[in-house]
Amino acid sequence: MRALVKTRDAPGLEMQDQPVPEIGPDDVLIRIAKTGICGTDIHIWNWDDWAAKTVPVPLITGHEFAGEIIEMGRNVTDLEIGQRVSGEGHLIGKTSRQSRSGKFHLDPATRGIGVNEPGAFAEYLKLPAFNAVPLPDEIDDDIGAILDPLGNAVHTALSFDLIGEDVLVTGAGPIGIMAAAVVRHAGARNVVITDINPDRLALAESVADVVPVNVAHEDLKSLMPRLGMQEGFDVGLEMSGNQAALDQMVDALVMGGRIALLGIPPGKSPVDWSQIVFKAITLKGVYGREIFETWYKMIAMIQNGLDVRKVITHRFPATEYATGFETMRGGASGKVILDWRG
Ligand code: NAD
Ligand code: ZN
Repeated sequence: MRALVKTRDAPGLEMQDQPVPEIGPDDVLIRIAKTGICGTDIHIWNWDDWAAKTVPVPLITGHEFAGEIIEMGRNVTDLEIGQRVSGEGHLIGKTSRQSRSGKFHLDPATRGIGVNEPGAFAEYLKLPAFNAVPLPDEIDDDIGAILDPLGNAVHTALSFDLIGEDVLVTGAGPIGIMAAAVVRHAGARNVVITDINPDRLALAESVADVVPVNVAHEDLKSLMPRLGMQEGFDVGLEMSGNQAALDQMVDALVMGGRIALLGIPPGKSPVDWSQIVFKAITLKGVYGREIFETWYKMIAMIQNGLDVRKVITHRFPATEYATGFETMRGGASGKVILDWRG
């Protein structure tokens, strides 16, 4: 089968011929239809310090996918050949305290497909049946391929009550934009999204009913009276990993405000703890998706009108993967999809 492989300890990825994975009794084999390119895949392509110390070589990369089950292990009884699926890319252990308490997403032994284990940028993917998520007919393969990052957005956005709240999203990358759409869908009052990249803010406006603010030129706090806000935002979703964005968020929050942090700062970054304390702010770190609560919620929201399709800005055949990665690295795109069929 064709697969996109990190073949050596250096930047880049190569399309190679690889054996079709052999499945075990609890696995399914998925014929991949579409995959999404993630920021994580860009780190792996670039082979930065994080990638070099995390990713074994050689490894098939990729973790955002949709496809169809074509083979099932003998213990798998609750799925069907031909079933269209996406799936949770975090492979969890079942022995930790958190796992045994049903909090699968907090298992410390979590391993990621396409990061620690063979991934989805291939014609076929082996996945534990436990991780497969059946797709209803109204969720096509394009949307199926972005449920992983949509799940990050949903997990973060639904951390706190949003109904009637004023919400600030910092970072209009694909995940921040989808989070803003979720926040709007869930019933917030004002949804403001910040970035320093005008292309990203324009994309945010086309996907969701949001107020875009370019913090390179505009003052966030001065727009609050225009939005009927007196004391600040109730909820903040940090989606940039940028220090300045977090500082600005803390500053723009009401007393007792709540912040969910998904963005990953590049290294240790200083926080103004006295502001956090004196404003009595709640901080919540968010990792991955809740397994499987986030998946149920996001599929239900899509079935109920949540529309994030416009966040997909580019589609390429998998053979044109280099152009796909170049497009993502350019920083102006939303999600980029690779098609593995044909
Ligand atoms: P992205 O890099 O595409 O988007 C980040 C955006 O933040 C960019 O558009 C950038 O211009 C913007 N930005 C930079 N400085 C800013 C500032 N001062 N104010 C406002 N915006 C600013 O990333 P993405 O793929 O959308 O992912 C969002 C974040 O979530 C990333 O940091 C990513 O690493 C992280 N992430 C975390 C998890 C997790 O499990 N915690 C999972 C996936 C992604
Ligand atoms: Zn991803």
